[in-house]
Amino acid sequence: MARKIVAGNWKMNMLADDGQQLIQEIVKGAAEVDCELIVCPAAPFLQSFSMLKGNVKIGAQNVSAFDNGAYTGEWSAAMLKSIAVNYAIVGHSERRSLFGETDDQVNAKVHKLLADGIKPIVCCGETLEQREEKLEKEVVKLQLVKALDGLTEESLENIVVAYEPVWAIGTGVTASAEQAQEMHAFIRSTLVKLFGDRATEIPLLYGGSCKPANAKELFACEDIDGGLIGGASLKSESFLAIAQSF
Ligand code: PGA
Repeated sequence: MARKIVAGNWKMNMLADDGQQLIQEIVKGAAEVDCELIVCPAAPFLQSFSMLKGNVKIGAQNVSAFDNGAYTGEWSAAMLKSIAVNYAIVGHSERRSLFGETDDQVNAKVHKLLADGIKPIVCCGETLEQREEKLEKEVVKLQLVKALDGLTEESLENIVVAYEPVWAIGTGVTASAEQAQEMHAFIRSTLVKLFGDRATEIPLLYGGSCKPANAKELFACEDIDGGLIGGASLKSESFLAIAQSF
């Protein structure tokens, strides 16, 4: 059985003061929840957050595909490790569509992170056009095959996968529990085909307009192990309410 996780993707939101207040509230509320909590703030706040004691793990929203060196504006997995960051999101659809992140880069990032002991949260998901053309499973499978290429069986326990249909991100339109469960079951079986039975331990998170009003129904689905939360992670009440929805 995969562990339960609720992760907050703050994206490019929050300034120092607001962010400090929010993370403190989440750390305080973490005692009341029965799942792993991860907060992914913008990069400038990673170090101060990772020094907080408490039951909340800290994740970056991105990482470089390169090792340390002359890459202005980038940060490496080794740097994240040096400030005790636990996770990093890779392949988010905003990185793919706005910043041209490719499957090859996602794969390189996954390997860099694992080499430094940081757990990648690997995102996948189809666009509305792809779903309308009934290509969603093909698209998601290809993204996963490429992102996870070269992974060893031992590294599986350090991987998290997030299914985020692009049409549901930040739109207020959530995938129905049936749509999400169908895709998650497909992802689970794809991962098992690729890596064997141990892949059943990879947590599969749903992302895309997940909020307190729909989290319970989504998390009740057999193959949904939690959520990657954008908008609703920016308030401690909604984020913690989602985390209490198992
Ligand atoms: P949303 O974002 O919850 O605001 O739809 C999810 C995400 O992009 O990770």
